[in-house]
Amino acid sequence: MSARIVLYCDREWRDGACPRQLLTPAATVDDARRYGARDGWRTEGDRDFCPLHGGPTGRTATVRLHPDPSTGDTPS
Ligand SMILES: [Zn+2]
Repeated sequence: MSARIVLYCDREWRDGACPRQLLTPAATVDDARRYGARDGWRTEGDRDFCPLHGGPTGRTATVRLHPDPSTGDTPS
């Protein structure tokens, strides 16, 4: 098995979605999620969230109000 699994952040907004993703060396989804967890990623049900969006949903509003270019939140 040489497959790689990429975790994609599932946080979505009305006009877009989080572009963050994490390429893992894992061979299975479970391993990929364990790998991501060490990086702060969280899994809820079948959805994965990057470290920025893994917390309470209220944090999303903070991100929207204070865009950080490094997050890719507001590409221009
Ligand atoms: Zn995200």
